[in-house]
Amino acid sequence: MNQQTQAAQLHSIPALSNNNMPRACLATFVMATSFLSTINHFHMVATAGLADDGILLTPDIVSRIHTDHDSIARASSDFGHIVEAIPNGVFHPTSPADIVALIRLSISQPKPFAVAPRGQGHSARGQALAPGGIVIDMRSMRRGDHVSMSSEQLWADVGGEQLWIDVLHATLEHGLAPRMWTDYLRITVGGTLSNGGIGGQAFRHGPQISNVHELDVVTGMGEMITCSPDKDSDLFFAALGGLGQFGVITRARIALEPAPKRVLWVRVAYADVESFTSDQELLISKPASSGSGFDYVEGQVQMNRTLTEGRRSSSFFSASELDQLAKLVLDTGSTAIYYIEGAMYYNDDTASSVNQKLERLLEELNFVPGFAFVRDVSYVEFLDRVGREEQKLRAAGVWDVPHPWLNLFVPRDRWDDRMTTATPGGEDVFYAVGLLRSAVAAGDLERLERENAAVLAFCDREGVGCRQYLPHHASRDGWRRHFGEKWGRLAALKRRYDPRGILSPGQGIFPAAGSDSL
Ligand code: FAD
Repeated sequence: MNQQTQAAQLHSIPALSNNNMPRACLATFVMATSFLSTINHFHMVATAGLADDGILLTPDIVSRIHTDHDSIARASSDFGHIVEAIPNGVFHPTSPADIVALIRLSISQPKPFAVAPRGQGHSARGQALAPGGIVIDMRSMRRGDHVSMSSEQLWADVGGEQLWIDVLHATLEHGLAPRMWTDYLRITVGGTLSNGGIGGQAFRHGPQISNVHELDVVTGMGEMITCSPDKDSDLFFAALGGLGQFGVITRARIALEPAPKRVLWVRVAYADVESFTSDQELLISKPASSGSGFDYVEGQVQMNRTLTEGRRSSSFFSASELDQLAKLVLDTGSTAIYYIEGAMYYNDDTASSVNQKLERLLEELNFVPGFAFVRDVSYVEFLDRVGREEQKLRAAGVWDVPHPWLNLFVPRDRWDDRMTTATPGGEDVFYAVGLLRSAVAAGDLERLERENAAVLAFCDREGVGCRQYLPHHASRDGWRRHFGEKWGRLAALKRRYDPRGILSPGQGIFPAAGSDSL
């Protein structure tokens, strides 16, 4: 992949807040009136049948559909806590064959039911919900952290249901690790591969979907297909970033690299956006072969008031460093502080030279003098940094709150031409910009939604040409514009691999199950 990606995230660390019990209760109450008729219906139609490939359609499948209060309530919402939709049941498969059987059961009906795989449900806009259908709880397929791998060929076969944190621990036992990571690891392989999988290593390796050799996919026709760039490649490429529309990913063969032991984890601070973006682009232009750059590059923007008005805790900065940053804000009068976050991996054999290497690199950068902060941590500590943040937010009661997140891919050349430094010839550079905000007080959600809408309207008006990542569009026209010239091909692939339109209806891209108008 010749595109380079940087993540510039705007983090807003929330204060103490409310919870969302009333809405969860309402969802469960409505469910109670509908599930009985659905279960009876399944019993009527699912008593017989041995398909050509020996997959049984038996009441056993129906018995794995849970309709209890907790299962339904959990599957009715997601991390975003903005959208709710009640499924008729939650399916607990123990193998990919169970998923095949469920899908065949659906499409054997005159009016098929919708089916949505749910990894961790860490979507923000109901993408893993199945209103009136069946949610597949992929957690039930997890069995410890076992993965099979080839140490010689540097790949691992991992289940679509597996958490990246488990993949990390399993591969580390062999001294290996996936080379491309998301910032947060308690999300699933199937969930991130259905989107992209962006993180600070993307400038080197592309997104996670560019680091996959092969997939097992259960299509909307109930067929299990092993696909790769050489075999059934249309399904392979459709499923990668496919928003769950073409099949359920049950296995992925992902690229590994020798795992480093330790990491110099660095933040450098800027008071002006030009130096910040120039330095980011300098850093991502350094080829791996030069041995002189970071192995991970991201950026963050912190609005000044979050440093000066009331003290925020940080899992990276100490209290005295936060004081130092607050003083920088007051001294410069800038509206925001910008951080480049970098990581330099090292091992026993490079331990003696890594500090010098970092010093040389920092000398090339134009951050505010004296504002470089370095932590020496294990590789796991570095990769699992957001997991620690999660624990703190959970303890403060501000994890399960609405998250009106907006993520955008923004082309660099429209970002601001003045900020551009030389980049490798012929390569596209774009930023992944995440406004990752939490609604914790009354009125926050509405205000943040208005701000998101204003950002999108601005991009539209100014012709910025950005695309949503983890996208959400309320209309079919919105989706057509989102996919642009890819739309016709996607619609054809949908007709081929999910002609009854049963898969992942929460994305709202294609007409829902039972519709004839695909
Ligand atoms: P779910 O929300 O369960 O599902 C997402 C979609 O994929 C749904 O449509 C679902 O039906 C479908 N799906 C799920 N499993 C499968 C499967 N096996 N086969 C086919 N379709 C499937 N993303 C990044 O790229 N980089 C980041 O750094 C990053 N950080 C994050 C940090 C946090 C705290 C959170 C909450 C999210 C972050 N994300 C990030 C976004 C995340 O990658 C997506 O929300 C992802 O979809 C979550 O995975 P999940 O397993 O919870 O998927």
